[in-house]
Amino acid sequence: MLKPGQPLDKVLADELAQLREAGLYRSRVALDGSQGARVSIAGRAYLSFASNDYLGLAADPRLVEAVRAAALHYGVGAGASHLLHGHSAAHDALERALAEFVGCPRALVFSTGYMANLGVVTALCGRDDEIFADKLNHASLNDAMVLSRARFRRYPHLDLDALDHALGRSTARRKLVATDAVFSMDGNVAPLPDILQLCEKHDAYLLIDDAHGFGVLGLHGAGALSHFGLRSERVLYMGTLGKAAGVYGAFVAGDEALIDYLVNRARTYIYTTATPPMLAAALLESLSIIRSEDWRRERLRELVRTLMAGLGSKSTMMLPSQTAIQPFVLGTTARAVNVSERLAEAGVLVPAVRPPTVPRGSARLRISLSAAHETADVQRLARALCEIQP
Ligand SMILES: *Cc1c(COP(=O)(O)O)cnc(C)c1O
Repeated sequence: MLKPGQPLDKVLADELAQLREAGLYRSRVALDGSQGARVSIAGRAYLSFASNDYLGLAADPRLVEAVRAAALHYGVGAGASHLLHGHSAAHDALERALAEFVGCPRALVFSTGYMANLGVVTALCGRDDEIFADKLNHASLNDAMVLSRARFRRYPHLDLDALDHALGRSTARRKLVATDAVFSMDGNVAPLPDILQLCEKHDAYLLIDDAHGFGVLGLHGAGALSHFGLRSERVLYMGTLGKAAGVYGAFVAGDEALIDYLVNRARTYIYTTATPPMLAAALLESLSIIRSEDWRRERLRELVRTLMAGLGSKSTMMLPSQTAIQPFVLGTTARAVNVSERLAEAGVLVPAVRPPTVPRGSARLRISLSAAHETADVQRLARALCEIQP
């Protein structure tokens, strides 16, 4: 709190000092060039397990070429919001392709996943409604609930009995269950069919955040709905386009009326500039690569096995995950930060994830695998992890 006589910079500097003391101070490093399995920082080359570029598409020459061609045609900026003539044929084509890919009647492209979650939740829920959210959901879903002014309840991670009870007790006008499909710091997959069954039992809707499943799970990478063979009018599907798809943005897919409603009511869609059309064009190219190059997903699965085998007895420190997100749990913040720093000294980048991003006592390395990694890359990481005594 700002006390009289205390300048703001002093107050903030004190708080930052406390963060530093707790090992929770955050800062950024700048990449010299493109994202990928190999990156350069301040002129030094690193093997990176730090990005969400799971399929290795972020710097794919075909996407670069699609952007170049689309920039010549559409220019760089959209110049306006979607409803006021910033919407382009490229956005339209991308929405049709996304809807068809995930198996929903329609899709709507948002600028980011954060904005998509805010937009959907605040459009659908207000004071008379109640939202039920997994405790480990992404921050954007949590922020969306607060912004919506609805009542909300965060149930213990994957505790479907608790969810069942909470839904049963609710007298809200509208009920919405929100869950990550793949949990971003754990890599595990939510049992979506069981959750949907509870939604049916209690007349609730289900918002699925598939930020880490889209492109990775399901037939040809179509995501969590395809992975589970789910199809329901209760489901609102959100996928992001800056992770496996390698570009930027997000989309919501669902029935005709849902999308039409969001165009009219989702504030993060309406009151913001449309994303550059050239990115929509790059995403069309990305979608075609995602669908046609199954080897990228096969490579990911193979790398998970390579990592486990390479870790030997230390593989028990991994949380069970079949996705690209492979958490190596070290417990305290100090241990996680220490191991991450020593890996960096050895030329390997793996971020330490600490509270409040993960629960206290479960600080970890978030190893993120990519189809761009070679088997030898993952073996090198495993060797380094075995050699470092935390
Ligand atoms: C990254 C992420 C988001 C946000 O998506 P952006 O496009 O990066 O804003 C939302 N939900 C989950 C689970 C995420 O991991």
